[in-house]
Amino acid sequence: MSTVKSHHKKSTIAGSVSEMEYLTVPALDKTGRFLHAFTTRHGGLGAKSNGVRQPDDWSAVAHAFGIHIDRVAMVNQVHGENIIRIDELNIRGARSVHADALMTDVPGIAVGVETADCVPILLFDPVRPAVAAVHAGWRSTVKKIVQKAVYRMHEEFRSEPSRLIAAIGPAIGPECYEVDEPVMGPVQAAFSFWREVSEPQGKDRWSLDLVKANHIELMQVGLAEKNIHAAGMCTSCRKELFYSFRAEGRTGRMLSVIMLKP
Ligand SMILES: [Zn+2]
Repeated sequence: MSTVKSHHKKSTIAGSVSEMEYLTVPALDKTGRFLHAFTTRHGGLGAKSNGVRQPDDWSAVAHAFGIHIDRVAMVNQVHGENIIRIDELNIRGARSVHADALMTDVPGIAVGVETADCVPILLFDPVRPAVAAVHAGWRSTVKKIVQKAVYRMHEEFRSEPSRLIAAIGPAIGPECYEVDEPVMGPVQAAFSFWREVSEPQGKDRWSLDLVKANHIELMQVGLAEKNIHAAGMCTSCRKELFYSFRAEGRTGRMLSVIMLKP
């Protein structure tokens, strides 16, 4: 598990001054070829919006990355398994597409997802190079969306899984995520390793570790353990820093965004 660096107001990336607060994984910064950010309560979509997109906040990310808001691709997230490849032709229409993962090999186009407990995962291939952003709630985790994103990157970009680097952002931790049979049934059906990611909590109750499940999924399709970096921060425990749907109900969303430098 790698540490996460906090960028407070006035942090500088790509020659532009950011007024938002966000987290990055230092191991990813070191590559120098990508920009990435996990926003916090201080730079996300805002509780007042109740999760509805506020272009201003995506604009803050665009500003921090030194690009126009029209160069940031996001989708209509539906807890499914659809993955969209973004390029110059479809970037404008992307936000009306029902999908939970985006990928691109176009420099200067950022791809991002919104979360508030669900697991955000950023992937990049330093060789092609190419990037992806994945939104994995329990339903998409069970549908193995992150594995499908890795396969799709191989198909579209010839990205070898063994060289892919993954950054798993802040998400709800197992100590705060208790589930019952309607969730645990599909988890048990999908994963031979379900005992490794859950703990019984009395009759028909389990704690579930979605981050660990996605971590194992990534290793199963060939990512090296040293290339998987997790923030290790619980959105529900750290309410001062993150939005948590479980803890708060109606709330905002954080953004997890990655871009190949132009
Ligand atoms: Zn917690």
